[in-house]
Amino acid sequence: MKSTISIATFILAVLFLTSCSSIPPSTKAPTALAGWHSLPQVARACGVKSSGWQISREGANLTTSRHKIRLFAESRRMEVNGTLVWLNAPLTAYPTGSTRFFLSPADAADLNTLHQQITSRLPQNKSQRFFTVMLDPGHGGEDSGARSSITGQHEKDLTLDIAKRIGTALARDPIQVVIIRNDDFTMSLDQRTSIAAKNKIDCFVSIHANSAANLNAEGFETYILPAAGYPATNGGEIREPGIGNKWNPANLTLAYTIHNRLVKLGYADRGLKRARFYALQHSTCPAILVEVGFLSNNREARLLNTPAHRQKIADTIAAGIRDYAR
Ligand SMILES: [Zn+2]
Repeated sequence: MKSTISIATFILAVLFLTSCSSIPPSTKAPTALAGWHSLPQVARACGVKSSGWQISREGANLTTSRHKIRLFAESRRMEVNGTLVWLNAPLTAYPTGSTRFFLSPADAADLNTLHQQITSRLPQNKSQRFFTVMLDPGHGGEDSGARSSITGQHEKDLTLDIAKRIGTALARDPIQVVIIRNDDFTMSLDQRTSIAAKNKIDCFVSIHANSAANLNAEGFETYILPAAGYPATNGGEIREPGIGNKWNPANLTLAYTIHNRLVKLGYADRGLKRARFYALQHSTCPAILVEVGFLSNNREARLLNTPAHRQKIADTIAAGIRDYAR
C-alpha cells in the first residue's frame, strides 16, 4: 500500500513537472489575464519560432518569409503585411510597462487564422456545387443612405452600381453571384438577412459608403463582427454572441482577403474593424461589410462619381472574392 502511494505520488510529480515544462513560467498568463496567450505561445501555435518576435516596450514585431506582423503596446492596432487589422482587445503588458505581452484568446485565435490564410490559403469551398456569394448593395428605394453634397450622388445608387460591376467581373468564374437588391427598391435589414438565410450561400458581402462631419475623413473600412464578449472597435456595449459569431475565423479571412487588396489601391487604410451591424450579427454564413470611401470627402466623392473608380473598386472586391472562393 505504501509503495502504491509513493508510485502514485511519483507519477503525479512527473505529470506536474511535464505540464509545467511545456509552458515555461515566463510565458504563463498571470491570473489577471487567465486564458490570454503570451507572444511565444502565439508564435508556437502558428508553427513559428518564438524567437522570431522582436519585442520592445513599444510593442512586438514578428517577421517570417511570408509575413510581417506588428503589434503595439496597450493598443488594439495590429498591422499584417502593412494592412491595418483592429484587435478585439489591446496587446496587454503584465506587469504594466514590462515587455511581457499577452493577447486575448479571441485575438490569438484570429492571428492563427490570418497566419494560415497567408501561408497556406485555407480552402473555403468544400462543397461540390458552385461557390455562391450574395452581394448586398446598402440602402435602396426610400432609404437613400448618405448623399454627397459635393456630387449629389446617393449611396444607394453607388452601392448598386458597384455590386453590378462585381457581378459582371465574376461572370466568367465558377462563382454564382446573387445580388440581393438588383434595382432601386426599399428593403429592410431583416428582409436582407432572411433572404440570405433561405439561400445556400457561401459568403455575404454588404457594400456601403461612408459620410462624416469631418470632411477630411477618407479611406476604406471593412467590418466584421467583434468576438463575443468584446466591444466594437469604435466602442459600445459588449454583447452575447450573434448568429454571425459562428463564422468568426472565416469572417476574418474573407475580410482580410478583400481589405488587403482594397488598401493597395493607394487610398487611406482605416482598417479591418469590428462592429455589431445587423447584417453581420444575423448572418448565417461568413459576412463582411465594406465601406468603399467617403461621400463627404471632396476627393473621394469626386472619384466615386466616376465609372472608372467604381470599376477599380469592383474589380478589387471581385478579386478578393475569387481568392477566398478557391
Ligand atoms: Zn450605408
